[in-house]
Amino acid sequence: MSRTPLMAGNWKSNLNHQEAVVLVQKLAWTLQDKKHDPAKAEVVVIPPFTDIRSVQTLVDGDRLDLRYGAQDVSQHDGGAYTGEISAAMLAKLGCSYVVVGHSERREYHAESDAIVNAKAHATLAADMSPIVCVGEGLEVRQAGDHVTYTLEQLRGSLDGLTAEQVADVVVAYEPVWAIGTGEVATPEDAQEVCAAIRGELADRFSSEAAASTRILYGGSVKAANIAAIMAKPDVDGALVGGASLQAEEFAAIARFY
Ligand code: PEP
Repeated sequence: MSRTPLMAGNWKSNLNHQEAVVLVQKLAWTLQDKKHDPAKAEVVVIPPFTDIRSVQTLVDGDRLDLRYGAQDVSQHDGGAYTGEISAAMLAKLGCSYVVVGHSERREYHAESDAIVNAKAHATLAADMSPIVCVGEGLEVRQAGDHVTYTLEQLRGSLDGLTAEQVADVVVAYEPVWAIGTGEVATPEDAQEVCAAIRGELADRFSSEAAASTRILYGGSVKAANIAAIMAKPDVDGALVGGASLQAEEFAAIARFY
């Protein structure tokens, strides 16, 4: 089964809504200039909540071949949850994807696998795809327990989903020691864990679901290292942080083929 590669740019807590418009315009122009073929890689931007409406207006108005998503979502359906943004609100804004369980949310906001799981369920119930982040810290990697640790996070994060739902999930393997550090995992490191994730999806859900689910690598991805990572059979794209804030660099990542 063929999986369209996915390049998702997580802007984190950067760019106001005017800066967001400039970046998206520049990204669209650059992709056009480089003759990017959307069939070879789906390009997704993941702005802060406050920029999503501006991105929606631009993408719809100019019919840009870009998708967009959110960096987080409430586990609740709506109501008396001050400060929370529900999945229905994001779907109404045209979001296709929601990042859940990013390591920064797990670390700074104490998000457990159970919370990540509730957010994945909420996202799917609103007809969007969760990008479920998993990955080990440095100590776990040094102890050689990275596969076991990551699969444990994956099991908790995908609990209770059906095989059909899992086919719509995107899994992002993001070793925490490689995020924002310039320390990129080797293509072989990425392949080892992404293959283990696909094996786990086949065992727990179905081989069809495992063959459909896109598995991304994330951690200091740049134009200079993406081709080698994408050459690995179980890596279907990248979740990109810092480099997604530069239109030309992110376009070059998307144009890895
Ligand atoms: C991320 O934030 O998910 C990420 C991978 O960041 P960076 O590309 O900057 O390492």
